[in-house]
Amino acid sequence: MSFEMDMFRLDGKVALVTGAVYGIGFEIAKSLAKAGATIVFNNLDQASVEQGLANYEKEGITAHGYVCDVTDEAAVKNMISKIKAEVGSIDILVNNAGIIKRIPMIEMEAKDFRQVIDVDLNAPFIMSKAVIPDMIKKGGGKIINICSMMSELGRETVSAYAAAKGGLKMLTKNIASEYGEFNIQCNGIGPGYIATPQTAPLRERQENGERHPFDQFIVGRTPAARWGTADDLAGPAVFLASNASDFVNGHILYVDGGILAYI
Ligand code: NDP
Repeated sequence: MSFEMDMFRLDGKVALVTGAVYGIGFEIAKSLAKAGATIVFNNLDQASVEQGLANYEKEGITAHGYVCDVTDEAAVKNMISKIKAEVGSIDILVNNAGIIKRIPMIEMEAKDFRQVIDVDLNAPFIMSKAVIPDMIKKGGGKIINICSMMSELGRETVSAYAAAKGGLKMLTKNIASEYGEFNIQCNGIGPGYIATPQTAPLRERQENGERHPFDQFIVGRTPAARWGTADDLAGPAVFLASNASDFVNGHILYVDGGILAYI
């Protein structure tokens, strides 16, 4: 296929972005919608889904929202069949829903460690497993796993998160190698430090008025000298969801202002 700007368009595609009520998932979903995709998202309860629908409506996007815990395989199967019947079968899956627990490892309860692994690693497995058979039937699909710089690094207090996101990087490569022959591309996006509600406490001013030490550390270590915004992820997400990336498989695209190149 020779190069055309149209190869970035997603018209007629159904994109499911998990947990996309606000934050990174919402921004990614907005960019996929601008490129022409029909947006489907899920969240844990009805109130969050209603909130999500209202957020999309404000942006002029008609999205479809479902209540579903991505760690619950039966609920996921049920949601995927409902989406197929009500919207259409899924062409693009973005495994975005995620949690982090910042606890020093020797103080962390095993149940907390397991919960992070469950949401950040087991759920992308459950979700991908649920959509791949229909992708094979329809001749292809795109899976984008939202990884992290912690797919590459360890740091104090994030042992479970780093273990999960490192595992997600390898799940990405495995899906790519196992299902690439069916024209399924599975890639990851590894956001750097992105200003979202999840990272808001790390940007709060101290009582003495100084910037949070972590805020200073991050800005000082990032060649771009700033936090990322969810908007920074839009172009990479559209690229990986579109035909423009049809020969890109099993990669993690770090969108981090250069921090991994510098550390
Ligand atoms: P948010 O917490 O803002 O959004 C995650 C969403 O996932 C929330 O709406 C949350 O619901 C939902 N969710 C959590 N667990 C489940 C579940 N079991 N089933 C369904 N939905 C669920 O996170 P961000 O936007 O900051 O992050 C999105 C992704 O990006 C995550 O995978 C995160 O690890 C990754 N990331 C974020 C970075 C950052 O700097 N923010 C950096 C690198 C990676 P609820 O609102 O109820 O909590």
